[in-house]
Amino acid sequence: MRNKRPIKVKKGANTRSVADIVKELKQSSSFSGNYRQQSLKIHGLICAKCGREFDLKNQNLLTVHHKDGDHKNNPPDGSNWENLCAYCHEDEHSRGLLGDYFTSDKR
Ligand SMILES: [Zn+2]
Ligand SMILES: [Zn+2]
Repeated sequence: MRNKRPIKVKKGANTRSVADIVKELKQSSSFSGNYRQQSLKIHGLICAKCGREFDLKNQNLLTVHHKDGDHKNNPPDGSNWENLCAYCHEDEHSRGLLGDYFTSDKR
């Protein structure tokens, strides 16, 4: 899934687009080190695969999986994150590359 955002903006909106870019840069840099908490906040303390729920005491067992496998791709809206418990996360990666094909947009 890709969100193609038009870079060229209509006349008169140029200053706004620059501000948007700066805003985005600031967001992405501040999120990069803290994406786990963000993902937990957005998706909740629950494993996306087995549905196991977690609370503040054992949330360290809940990990953030990057859907596209790119740990640097951390959109603030959480679209590349998936909360998986340690077991499901390991399972997810042990499937290797084939797993990625099946999790693409086509279903
Ligand atoms: Zn799980
Ligand atoms: Zn992962």
